[in-house]
Amino acid sequence: MHPQTYILKNHEIGKLTYADTFRYGVEISSGLKNVDVQPLNIEIDNVLFALNSQSKNLPDVAVSQIASDLVLTCGCAAVKNTLCEHQTLVLQTIISKPDFKIFFDKNLRLEKIKKAAEAYGMAEEEDLEKYFGLKYADRQTYVVPLNPELIPVDEKSTSFFKSKLFAKNIESTETEKNETTQQILVFRRNKFQETYSLELYEATLTKNGKIKAPFSQIDPLNEVWNHEKPEEIRFFTALAKVQKNTEWNDNQAIGSLVKNPLSLSYFISENDTISASNLITVKLENASVGLNIKVNLKEPFYEVTTSVTINEHIYSLQDLKIRFNCFLQIGDRFVFISDAEMLPTVKYFSEKRATMLIYPSKFELFRKEILDAMSDKVSIEYAFIKKKNE
Ligand SMILES: [Zn+2]
Repeated sequence: MHPQTYILKNHEIGKLTYADTFRYGVEISSGLKNVDVQPLNIEIDNVLFALNSQSKNLPDVAVSQIASDLVLTCGCAAVKNTLCEHQTLVLQTIISKPDFKIFFDKNLRLEKIKKAAEAYGMAEEEDLEKYFGLKYADRQTYVVPLNPELIPVDEKSTSFFKSKLFAKNIESTETEKNETTQQILVFRRNKFQETYSLELYEATLTKNGKIKAPFSQIDPLNEVWNHEKPEEIRFFTALAKVQKNTEWNDNQAIGSLVKNPLSLSYFISENDTISASNLITVKLENASVGLNIKVNLKEPFYEVTTSVTINEHIYSLQDLKIRFNCFLQIGDRFVFISDAEMLPTVKYFSEKRATMLIYPSKFELFRKEILDAMSDKVSIEYAFIKKKNE
């Protein structure tokens, strides 16, 4: 008798019933009744389960479908002339929970994958497991595309796209005054967060132009009274506005900050404490930003790739990062995307979908719903595809 393994010869989970578990297994003791069975590692035909109990340490149970045999392994001391109670419990759990069963039952799996593939226009595809797999998360099993660039095109996703892509931004502001000392502006990362605040400091400059401590923070609204030129007043008012609105969506205010009429130096601090060694110089700039979308054939899909043109240079969106919701970062340059209608589109593609794969049967819908709607803003190149009904 194998000390750890019990093999159900010529059995698969899809054909086993709950009653079968009593035939091959043992009665579950009351101590195991409320144990939570969860996978430690889960893949098709191969799952390692943990038996989670607050009161005692229970062995893990591995279940594998190996060719036509179902193999269960448990490290407990019970002689495995039947399934031990841990194996029995795990087998009962798999049979009764579709979220686990689907990893062993090919028919169940294909049925669920086929359903999910509809949104991708791929339900009729022959070998769906070539394109889709399973993911167990938050106690549920999901069908996911193996290539994350593959996207669904259905009503749910196009309305999501549209809400993301064509949402308009709003905004504006005004203000005043100032005299110059060695003021600097710092994008300071907030503690334990991904967010940044833009703060105005007075700092000392050494003879060779280096910034040094102490740094004393200045309220931009007080600065307003030290300036007379309208663009300077506007600058400090804009700064005060941006400090209040953590969303970084006040285009007019950010535009004033980018103009930077006093030529103050901008820095970024990835640390929430300001110190000379934490400050990295950045340059804010205005540039005309164009979005380019290219559609290629990448059998069996259409591949949609995106890039931006900034001052006649083309950058793949995959290589750029959106900072503070409205800048594209290229090295130490922060290029402001001032076109409020363009911004969400660029942002979306940059953050989520620099490259997308779309199955041909869904492409027309995607083109009609998304690409055509954008085409007055965006340059779209269809390589290999004849555009119908021009
Ligand atoms: Zn056992």
